[in-house]
Amino acid sequence: MDNTFVAAPLKKRRGRPSSASYDITSERVQTVIAMVRRRATLQEVGDAIGVTREGARKVIAKIAQRYGAELLEPNEKVWNVHEAARELGISDYFIKKACDLGKVSFRRRGERIWLLDEAGMKALRQRFSPEGERTTCVVCGKEFFKRRTRKSCSNTCSNELDRRSYEKTVSKEPSLESLRGWRNDVWEKLQSRLPTKHEEWIGVHEAVLRSGLSPMQINWLGRRRVVATRPHPEAKWRVNGKSITLYAASEIEIARQVFESYEQKKG
Ligand SMILES: [Zn+2]
Repeated sequence: MDNTFVAAPLKKRRGRPSSASYDITSERVQTVIAMVRRRATLQEVGDAIGVTREGARKVIAKIAQRYGAELLEPNEKVWNVHEAARELGISDYFIKKACDLGKVSFRRRGERIWLLDEAGMKALRQRFSPEGERTTCVVCGKEFFKRRTRKSCSNTCSNELDRRSYEKTVSKEPSLESLRGWRNDVWEKLQSRLPTKHEEWIGVHEAVLRSGLSPMQINWLGRRRVVATRPHPEAKWRVNGKSITLYAASEIEIARQVFESYEQKKG
C-alpha cells in the first residue's frame, strides 16, 4: 500500500485565487477534496496545490463553505495508533512495533501520525486477539494484553510495582549478610562507634562533594539505613510533598574513608 499521495503539483498562483479556482470540476478542487477525505495534512494538501499550510487551510475552508463540509468527510474508516490501541485494549507500543516490523500496513499523516485502515486493523486484530494472552494487572486489576513476563498494564502500574519490590528489598536493619563489599565494612565500622553529638546534616549534593561517592551510592546507603538520614526540617525543602533527605556528615565521612581504602586495595 502506498504511503504517499500522488498528485501533480499545480502551478503556484500569485495573489488571491479567483473564484474560478473553486470550481468543483477543477483538478485543483478535486485534488483537495480527495486528499482531505484521506486525512492528508494541511502541509500535504498545500504541497500538492502549491500553497502554504495556511493557504491550504483557507482553500479547504472555502470548499467546505461553498459545497458543504460533508464533501470533505473521510471516505474510509481510519484509526490512528492511539485509537487502534484503545480499541484492541493494548498499549500504543505494540501497534507501533507491529507497524515498524512491517507486519501491519499503515500510512503516515504528516511526520508523526500513523494511520491504519480497515485492512491494517484486521491484521492487528488477528495478531493481538488470542484470549489466552490476556492477563490481569497485579497492581490495578485491569485486564491487559500480556507480553512476555509483564505483570502490570501500564507504565504507571509498572512504576508502582518497581516501588513495591524495591521497598521489599530494603531491609529495616541491615545485617552483615544483607550487605556486601565496602558497604558491609561501612556498616560494621558505624556499629562500633557512638553517634556523634550535635551531628551535622548535609544534603546529597554536599555528601557527593565530600565523599566522592556517586549520588546513587549515597542514596543506596541511606535507603538501606547504613548511613543515618533524616528528612529536611524546613518545609521549603519539599519536592512533590516529600522532604528531601539529609545525611549524617560524620557517617558519610566514614563511608568515604572505607570506600577509598577499598578502591586502593582493588587498584
Ligand atoms: Zn494496572
